[in-house]
Parts: sequence; C-alpha cells; structure tokens
Amino acid sequence: MAHKNYMAQDSKIEWTHHTANLWWGCTKVHEGCDHCYAAALSKRYGNDVWGNDKPRKQVVSVWKDLLKYQKEAKAANESHRVFVGSMMDIFEKPMPVIDSKGNLMSYNTGDLRQKFFDNINNGLYPNLMFLLLTKRPSNINRMIPESWKANPPANVMFGTSPVNQLTAMTLIEQLLQVNGSRFLSVEPQLGEITLLPWLQPGQIDWVIQGGESGSGRRPFDTNWGRKLKAECQATNTPYFFKQIDKVLAIPTDLMIRVHAAGDEPISIQSGNRTYEGQIKVLKGAIDDMNRAAIAAGGDDILDMQFDIVITYKPKGTRPLQTDTLVSVEVKDFEKGWDQGAKNMDVTLPIVFMKLLTE
Ligand code: SF4
Repeated sequence: MAHKNYMAQDSKIEWTHHTANLWWGCTKVHEGCDHCYAAALSKRYGNDVWGNDKPRKQVVSVWKDLLKYQKEAKAANESHRVFVGSMMDIFEKPMPVIDSKGNLMSYNTGDLRQKFFDNINNGLYPNLMFLLLTKRPSNINRMIPESWKANPPANVMFGTSPVNQLTAMTLIEQLLQVNGSRFLSVEPQLGEITLLPWLQPGQIDWVIQGGESGSGRRPFDTNWGRKLKAECQATNTPYFFKQIDKVLAIPTDLMIRVHAAGDEPISIQSGNRTYEGQIKVLKGAIDDMNRAAIAAGGDDILDMQFDIVITYKPKGTRPLQTDTLVSVEVKDFEKGWDQGAKNMDVTLPIVFMKLLTE
C-alpha cells in the first residue's frame, strides 16, 4: 500500500481563522510588494493610503471584531489563529491616522499598535493566536513591549516574508533576533530558496509557502515547493503549501491539507498491537485524501495507509505540538456531501501502528 505524509493545521480556512487589520495602508518594501494586492484593493475603494507621505486609515471595527473572535474561540474551547494584517504591516514605523471621512486623528499607528499589544498583555484574547507578519522584522524588537523580550506572549507568533534567497538571508536573520515563536510566509516566492540554514531546532516554528496570484503574477516553480517541503520534513518543521497562483491546481504531493479541528484534534486509545482513535478533520479534507488515494492507485481512503503528521496548538500556554501517526487506516467515512458542507467538522475512526510525539 502507498504511504502519504500529511500535515494538519487547526485551521478552517486554509492557514488562519480570521484576518484583522488595525489600519489600512503601507509602503512597498521589496520586490515581493511589487504587485501588492492590498494596495490595489485599497485604491479601488478610493483610499489614498499607500506610500511614506500618506496617512493610514483606521479600522474602527477591529476592536469589536477581536472580542467577537475571542468569544467564539472560547465557546468552542479552541485556539483560533488571527492573521495581522492583510492591509497593513503591523511593524511599520508610526504613521499619521485618518478616520473614514479623512479627518486627521490626534494619534498615530504606533498608538494603535500599542493599544493592541496592551490588550494582549491584559489578557483580552487568551483563545486567539496572533500571527504578526511583517516585511520589517528589524523593527520588531523596537516596537514590542519591553516585557515581551524576556517573556514573549504564548499567543503571539512573529513572521516575515522572504521571496528569494537574498531577502531570506536578510529578513530571517532579523527575525531570529526576536524572542518567541516564529514563522515564515515564503510568498510570493520569486526564486529558488533554501531555508536549511534557519531550520535548526528552536529557530523557525512554521513555514508557509506560495506563489503569486492575480494579473501579472510572476511564475512559481513547483520544484521550489518540493524543495522546501523536503527541507521542512527533514528538520521536522511544520509546513503548509498555500497556492501556486490560485489558478493552477496544487500537485497532489504538495496538497498536504488535512485540516483538523479543535486544539486536541486526535483522541487515542492504546490496544495490544495497534492504537485506535479518532481524528477530526474538515469534510473537504477527506476529498484531498481521496484524491491522494486515487493517485496512488486506490479507490478511496479506505484503500490506503497514511502517515499523518498533526501539528496543533494545545490548550493554554503549551507550545505547538507535533504528533505523527504511523500507518493509519481509516475505518469508515461518510461518502457524498454537497460542496457547501466541506468546511464542516467530521470525526474519522482510525487505527494505526505507532504514535511518535514531539
Ligand atoms: S509590506 Fe505587505 S502590505 Fe505593505 S506594500 Fe508590501 S505587500 Fe503590501
């Protein structure tokens, strides 16, 4: 029987549950910004907030939204990821702020950032895991609260976006100066990259990779994906392939999305020679697994054995956990559902031979 490796994230919409923006606006930094989607979208909405000489537009609703996300995550007894931000760079230098009518505010983006960090320090969002992605990692240590340098919050991950080997060398070295959990969002990837120099234990906790989308997108070579996937597997670094360009289908060997649900996505009982248990995934993930089964010559996942690698954030302050279930067989699964149901949780009964825990 064929074996496939899968990695699961506790994410229901690709790699994050929510996106939050404290403001709109930014300034282009490196070649990865050339086709910045956020700048184009902002312009389309009539906002003139891009560039060093432009103000940033505040997003008043974000504070209410964050409390709502927290409430939902708490009710589900889960930790939900919040990506900050898609229309801004949280570690940009302080910039003037305008309201929705264009009035200049008395505070700047540095004050909004401070309010956000204060809220995290005051424990307003214990069930939210913030992914703070920046193209300006050299600013992080200057802008975070002093206390985070020795005691980084358990619910914050710091990330940066290299797009080629040169930006990898600069940005990752800067990111490594920051204490705490760290991730890389290698996108839009524009050239071949090796991450091996930085995938040593304790350095990078998660790698996300993808090509550029939209009109004028620059080409992505799927072998770049295979290379980073192999480097991550060799160093036990959680890895997620996001997209080629949102048009071309992701090759089966890079389609490693088994979305688990909750902060403890497996339950396990030990038998004499095997383990039994359940794994929670999204219904759409079963489609992905079936596709892999067919590509390997079977009819569906009942014909396959899988090695499943699950990376998840346990409850409370415990760090990311990786469990590997070896030689998994799915005992049963529900066949046939409408596409609208693909984001629903489903529990699969499984048996497997070995459990490796890190
Ligand atoms: S840093 Fe991000 S938001 Fe800012 S211009 Fe570059 S791609 Fe756009």
